[in-house]
Amino acid sequence: MSFQEKSIQCFDCGTAFTFTLEEQEFFQSKGYTNEPKRCPSCRQARKERQGSSTYQNGGSSTYRPLRQMFPVTCSRCGKVTEVPFEPREGRAVYCRDCYSTVKVSR
Ligand SMILES: [Zn+2]
Ligand SMILES: [Zn+2]
Repeated sequence: MSFQEKSIQCFDCGTAFTFTLEEQEFFQSKGYTNEPKRCPSCRQARKERQGSSTYQNGGSSTYRPLRQMFPVTCSRCGKVTEVPFEPREGRAVYCRDCYSTVKVSR
């Protein structure tokens, strides 16, 4: 297998760079069939960006516990329902259906 050095224009910055024999051999050893689209510095920058974004997305920060629900009796229809806030005494609490009705009629 013989390789030839190639001049390629970087997809990102437009700079012409050389796809060297060593790199071509390296690419082949990795099983890559495509030529690189970016110059070494843009490739490096891309790698660092991707690496840092992966790091930020990792971890358990996306985990959210379920909101606590409080059982209440609807002041309008008497149906037992649950609301995501603690009901206060003397304050009317409505089930989902009645809540939308009451809200609209006001
Ligand atoms: Zn570049
Ligand atoms: Zn109701």
